[in-house]
Amino acid sequence: RAKERGRNTFQFFTADMNHQAFEQMLLENSLRRALERGEFELHYQPQFATATGRLAGVEALIRWRHPELGMVFPGTFIALAEQNGLIVPIGAWVLKEACRQGKAWLDEGRRFGHIAVNLSARQFAADDLLDTIREALDNSGLPPSMLELELTESAIMHNPGEAIELLDRIRDMGVALSIDDFGTGYSSLASLKQYPLDSLKIDRGFVKGVPHDADDVAITEAIIAIAHKMGLKVVAEGVETAQQAEFLKAAGCDVAQGFLLGRPVAASEVARLMTAADTVVA
Ligand code: C2E
Ligand code: MG
Ligand code: MG
Ligand code: MG
Repeated sequence: RAKERGRNTFQFFTADMNHQAFEQMLLENSLRRALERGEFELHYQPQFATATGRLAGVEALIRWRHPELGMVFPGTFIALAEQNGLIVPIGAWVLKEACRQGKAWLDEGRRFGHIAVNLSARQFAADDLLDTIREALDNSGLPPSMLELELTESAIMHNPGEAIELLDRIRDMGVALSIDDFGTGYSSLASLKQYPLDSLKIDRGFVKGVPHDADDVAITEAIIAIAHKMGLKVVAEGVETAQQAEFLKAAGCDVAQGFLLGRPVAASEVARLMTAADTVVA
C-alpha cells in the first residue's frame, strides 16, 4: 500500500503536476536567489510631453537577467513575487536603484523630469513602505519631487481605509503619485477624489482603440476631461502609432509613452534623450 502510494505520489508529481507548474517551481527557486546574485536591472522608458515633444519623465521597469533563461520580463515573475512576498525586497531594491540612477543623472547635469517607479499591491500593504521610500531618497540624495510612484487602483482599493492616510504621507514627503492602468480597476470617482494624486495613466487597452474605436475614444476623452477637472495630469501608455499620438495630443492628453516614442532601454541609452542642464535649448 505504501509502495503504491509512493508510486501514486510520484505519478502525481510527474503526470498531474503539469509542466507549467514545475517550471513555476524552478522559477520561484531561482527568483529567491536573484536579488543576492544581482540579476535584476532596471530599464527606462521615456515619457514625452505631447505639447512640446520634450522628455517629461522616465518609467523604471524591472528586468531579470537570468543566467540560463536570458532576459526575463516582469510579466513572467512579478505576479509570482507578489504571491510569495518576494516583491517586497525586490521592490525595495527597485526604489533604491531608481533613486540612485536618478541622482547619478542629475550629477551628470542631465534633465529628465521625473523617474516613475511601479509599486505593487503587496508593497503598498507592507508596514515599512514609508521607511523604504524615505531610505531610498535619503541614501541617494534624489530630490523627492523627482520621484513618482505608480499604483494600480486595485492596490489602493485593497485597503481603501488606510490608503488615503498612506498616500497622504507619501505625498507629504514630496513624492508624486499616479494611478497606473487607469480605467481597468474598480475605483469609484468618489474615492478617486479623496486621493492626493498627481496623474492618471490611461490604460494601454483604451489607447489601443483610438482613434478608430468609438468606445475607446469616448473613454479616453472622458478620462482626460475628468482628470483635468480634478487638477490631474494625464499620461497615455502604450502609444504605438502616429494616429494614436496625434489623437492624444489633440484630445489634450499631457504626456505620451509607448513603443512609437521609445521602448524601455538601459539607463545609458535613455540618457541620450536627456538634455544637459547646461545646454541652452533654442
Ligand atoms: P506597466 O507599469 O503598466 O508598464 C508598462 C508596460 O507596457 C511595460 O511592460 C512596457 O514595456 C510596456 N509597454 C510600453 N509601451 C508599450 C507599447 O507601446 N505597446 C505595448 N504593447 N507595450 C508597451 P513591462 O516592462 O513588461 O512591465 C509589465 C508590468 O510589470 C508593468 O506594467 C508593471 O505593472 C510591472 N512592473 C514592471 N516593473 C516593475 C517593478 O519594478 N515593480 C513592480 N511592482 N512592478 C513592475
Ligand atoms: Mg507603470
Ligand atoms: Mg501601466
Ligand atoms: Mg499597463
